[in-house]
Amino acid sequence: MKKSFKHEIKHYNIPIFIPHLGCPYECIYCDQKKITAQQNAPDIGQVIHTIEDYLQTIPSGAEVDVAFFGGNFTAVDKKVQRDYLYAVQPYLQQGKVNCIRISTRPDCIDEPVLDMLAYYGVRMIELGVQSLDERVLLASSRNYKPEDVLKSSRLIKEKGFELGIQLMIGLPRDSYDSDIETARKTIAMRPQEVRIYPTLVIADTALDSMWKRGDYNPLSLEEAICTCAEMFLMMQKENIRVIRMGLYAGEELRRDGVVQAGPFHPSFGELVEQEIFKQQALFALRRFNQLFGYHPEINLHVNSRDISKMVGNKQKNLRLLKQELDVVKLKADPTGERNWVGISAGGADKAQLIISRADYIIMRDS
Ligand code: SF4
Repeated sequence: MKKSFKHEIKHYNIPIFIPHLGCPYECIYCDQKKITAQQNAPDIGQVIHTIEDYLQTIPSGAEVDVAFFGGNFTAVDKKVQRDYLYAVQPYLQQGKVNCIRISTRPDCIDEPVLDMLAYYGVRMIELGVQSLDERVLLASSRNYKPEDVLKSSRLIKEKGFELGIQLMIGLPRDSYDSDIETARKTIAMRPQEVRIYPTLVIADTALDSMWKRGDYNPLSLEEAICTCAEMFLMMQKENIRVIRMGLYAGEELRRDGVVQAGPFHPSFGELVEQEIFKQQALFALRRFNQLFGYHPEINLHVNSRDISKMVGNKQKNLRLLKQELDVVKLKADPTGERNWVGISAGGADKAQLIISRADYIIMRDS
């Protein structure tokens, strides 16, 4: 279950997976049965059962979304769409569920569809955009054009829905520059939320065959982390929430042979945030040296809840920082905001320089 924090109110998604329901094509990288670890779309009884099960574990006062994922909701048979949405109505009316969200393709959106979704209380529509580079969309058999994405996202916003955008990096014919350009164009669409997924080679997909023939090279884990970190910072600068980076690493995806190749890591999002802390700390250190002169003994200050992000996987970040300086001591501050890095010279208790995430984002671009 996805859990996040917004104004201290806990937010929970109750996921209802409808694997490949409404998919007009097989996209070359996709096997939702493996990604969602579910073979078939649920019937109405199973939907209600799932909602009831999740509600028992969710604390009162939390914000709860029911989310139809894993297929193209708006391309599913209309009666089935209505039946699914109808099943959620009692929970909306009783205030046990706050919002319905659905995911779908950009070319499966039109006014009548949006009017029907609005009627049943759908609030958030996530578009599986993946890329805004025409060559990448073509090479991934997505069968729509960037203009289709712009048109549907405009329509979604005009009708008053919240917009979510799902992006993929490392698709065939993709590049770092193309991913960054896609992020720029995504920002221009002003979504409320973004998810970023590095492309994985999943067994028995068309991408798997391409990879085995030598026609596709996946990103390395390092490349995927760097690209995602840049896209994450671009989104943060514009106050667009990045709610997920990397596929949820459930049991099925972790099973031997399911992910054949690609930058798969069960804590991919955490690795990206560690990379950003490393960049921010290096920036702060250089700035400190400019302002206060070189000190071989340096203390690094962060909020205690950010310690693991600053230390890095297997202490990678700390080891790197220690290569630049003789001594780096890490000091934790249990109070206040998160995502800042402070620096002081050895012996000092308080940070002499603090670089917040917002400072870092603005100063690195200037
Ligand atoms: S990516 Fe989306 S449209 Fe393509 S096969 Fe998977 S679920 Fe269907």
